Amino acid sequence: MDSKRNVLDYISKVRLTPIMAKHFKCISCNKHVFVPPITTMDGRKLKCGRCSSVNTDYKTRLYGLEKLASYMEFPCEVDLCDAIVPWGKVTDHERVCSYRTIVCPMGNCDEYPMNTITSHFKRYHKHYFKCVNECYLKTTFGAHLKLILFKGKPYLIFSYINNDDIWVSVYAAGASTDVSFQVTFQDKKTERVMIFKGGKPVHFQEEEHCLGCLGRKCNLLTHKKSLAYSNHSAVFDDMMVRINTQLLVKVFGSKLVNCKVKITESDSAEQDDQHNYREISKMLVCPSCDQPLSAPIYSCETGHSICAFCKEKLTHCPSCEHQLTDLRCLPLEAIAQSIHLFCCNREHGCSFVGNRNERIAHENVCIARPVMSQNEVNNQPLYIV
Ligand SMILES: [Zn+2]
Ligand SMILES: [Zn+2]
Ligand SMILES: [Zn+2]
Ligand SMILES: [Zn+2]
Ligand SMILES: [Zn+2]
Ligand SMILES: [Zn+2]
Ligand SMILES: [Zn+2]
Repeated sequence: MDSKRNVLDYISKVRLTPIMAKHFKCISCNKHVFVPPITTMDGRKLKCGRCSSVNTDYKTRLYGLEKLASYMEFPCEVDLCDAIVPWGKVTDHERVCSYRTIVCPMGNCDEYPMNTITSHFKRYHKHYFKCVNECYLKTTFGAHLKLILFKGKPYLIFSYINNDDIWVSVYAAGASTDVSFQVTFQDKKTERVMIFKGGKPVHFQEEEHCLGCLGRKCNLLTHKKSLAYSNHSAVFDDMMVRINTQLLVKVFGSKLVNCKVKITESDSAEQDDQHNYREISKMLVCPSCDQPLSAPIYSCETGHSICAFCKEKLTHCPSCEHQLTDLRCLPLEAIAQSIHLFCCNREHGCSFVGNRNERIAHENVCIARPVMSQNEVNNQPLYIV
């Protein structure tokens, strides 16, 4: 056995069982102790990292136990939650656990489990609840909060308005953060629109995201940006979107425009799709005549594609100037055949979609096609089928 290796290196994950957990309870919060730093006073009673700020007599840090714990996984302490969390991720999970009990971000309500926030809003704050993925924001001064649903999952929208700025943030309340939100201003009369991308929401955390804190009315000690702390104006630093009202005046001639927040699929996924689509489309267009490629597709010595019509006229590749060959590119032909194309008269109202051959057949009879003189007909690019 390699003497340099620790015996722990041979252990895969050990899961904390309820029986084991009894021996590792934090003296202060009574949860399992596996949040660093784990400290003790007498070597028997333990205190967890969640409780770092209390019982400061517990000075001795138990690095050995922490090392052991780094090979362990821990069931979430919250009732009903069946998450198993690795060492180092315990507090991250506890802060966003869907089953945890929260103080209502509206304030003044009894505590309730996070995963019932939608029904809580339906019942107690129905004027601040919308069961769709967008809502209009209040345009009066002060702090506002709304809960909306995207794919049935709740998102909290915090906004704050004063004379100079509008701040907006969106938080996922037990929902996925892999979505995007945008803030749209619209002048109903002119229909002019201005859109701000908000990016992705973050997980809602009741101690940070509080309507009272945002409105400078909350004094809770557990809320680190409440009036109980001198840095309470930091509550605005964390807001995701800030829009200067002077900009609205410049664009719309007034601040009195509709403001709407909307949650959509994640931008990055959309952009990736669009990017891929653009890249693929580029590969399926003849570099010489800019028409969609279809079988037979030929290639040059270095592998660029060219349509049969252009190959007839050219000896060298328009992309790299190497010799064109008689080599056909069958995989590309198969892809080209399966790609759906719009009719070239789409701008004139035709909604046809089909593969290359169907498109050619369609365009000859398309009712939306412009009426052409014989001269124009002769100048149309020739399709090779
Ligand atoms: Zn503790
Ligand atoms: Zn949990
Ligand atoms: Zn409430
Ligand atoms: Zn607060
Ligand atoms: Zn071509
Ligand atoms: Zn080439
Ligand atoms: Zn058409």
